Amino acid sequence: MPLSFGFMGGGGIFKLPLPLRLNYAELDKTYTWHPFTPMRDWCAPEHEPLMLCSGEGCYLVDQHGNRYLDGNASIWTNIHGHCHPRINEAIKAQLDRVAHTSYLGFGNPPAAQLASELVGLFPDGGLEKVFFSDNGSTAIEAAVRMSLQFWRQNGQPGRDVILAFDAAYHGDTLGAASLGGIPLFKGSANQFGYVVQRVRTFEDLAALPADDLQHIAAVIIEPLVQGVNTMRIWPKGMLKALETWCRGQGIFLILDEVMTGLGRTGTMFACQQEKVVPDFLCMAKGLSGGYLPLAATLVNQRVYEGFLGAPSEGRTFFYGHSFTGNQLGCAAALASLAVFREEKVLEQLPAKIKAFDRLLQGLTDMAHVLEVRRCGLIAGIELVKQRSPRLDYETAEQVGARVCVAARKHGLLTRPIANTIVLMPPLCVVESELEAMVRAVRLAVEEVCGA
Ligand code: PMP
Repeated sequence: MPLSFGFMGGGGIFKLPLPLRLNYAELDKTYTWHPFTPMRDWCAPEHEPLMLCSGEGCYLVDQHGNRYLDGNASIWTNIHGHCHPRINEAIKAQLDRVAHTSYLGFGNPPAAQLASELVGLFPDGGLEKVFFSDNGSTAIEAAVRMSLQFWRQNGQPGRDVILAFDAAYHGDTLGAASLGGIPLFKGSANQFGYVVQRVRTFEDLAALPADDLQHIAAVIIEPLVQGVNTMRIWPKGMLKALETWCRGQGIFLILDEVMTGLGRTGTMFACQQEKVVPDFLCMAKGLSGGYLPLAATLVNQRVYEGFLGAPSEGRTFFYGHSFTGNQLGCAAALASLAVFREEKVLEQLPAKIKAFDRLLQGLTDMAHVLEVRRCGLIAGIELVKQRSPRLDYETAEQVGARVCVAARKHGLLTRPIANTIVLMPPLCVVESELEAMVRAVRLAVEEVCGA
């Protein structure tokens, strides 16, 4: 029977409604299958999975009451910290009205208000309509399918190729994965999915022959920084040049702001740093403050109007998911946007980013740190066996993963991408927490790689 029990977690008492006597770690190992996880090692007798039971601000608490800093904002989702009272209250209040209703054939108040506020985040216009879905991958699917259908029914059916960048990552559903350029994550999408033409740089794209260009429906890019590609930063000005090129060619620009959106890069959206307005903008992860699965694909008026017509004309966008426009998620997102305004979150970012930069700079003289890549409150710390001449660790050494496990002893939770350690704290992080995160990475790297 569920019972409540509380324990001291340093910052306060965390109350958990837990059924006592269950060994959750054992249940997990016996019954569940985790994403991106080699399950044989996970289930090995000597491995006790960390079960995260509660959180407050930038901290998470495990089954033993140990507190950790949430160094990757719970896989890049959390924005204002865990259990933010404003967001918790908004979800509870919505729950007492209704949790979920169909968005197919019906509207609802929080989704309508959220759509208007999202459009309002682009005060200079250019993005006028909001299509809701559940996660980053579906936000991308919606944008790509809209772009293809748009051309098909608006006079240019030959535009059926999506132009994507090398080493891009846009999600794991079949279509989204087919856009990705990292073989490890493409899986069976290698043979299936969209017709994709791939380029490495903007210069490669600009050099494409005219014959190719007439088949391209849209270009898709992660603006400013390729996340899963170990936090690679695009050259300054590249996004603006890409926008100009797309306009000149009459090709759609799709921005994947699933990771970069909602303040991560220092502005509400990465594209705003280069004053770029795409035809499609996809957001997810941080949209609900990172509390509930919610995504949105914003489009301009032209795209929207390309789907209007009598039902018999077959111009409708026949795509969607059961939880589209979820009322709890939209209520959380509205509260998260209110926190942005009320707590002046964006205004506080420059000082935090400056401190983060200074702290990360301190890692660059470590023997095994090849490079620290940073954009806003996003950082990738790449580790190598030897800096010069460069010698990489073997995959089998699992150095990135071992560093992240070692960091737990120093109070930090995060996850690597290969041998790049990611730090991406919630935006509510304070300087002392940034300091503790970077210190934990330093100690863990010293322990695993040697000083
Ligand atoms: N696009 C980017 C840039 C991402 O980083 C991710 C997730 N890491 C996705 C799309 C897919 O999002 P989701 O996992 O919510 O489907």
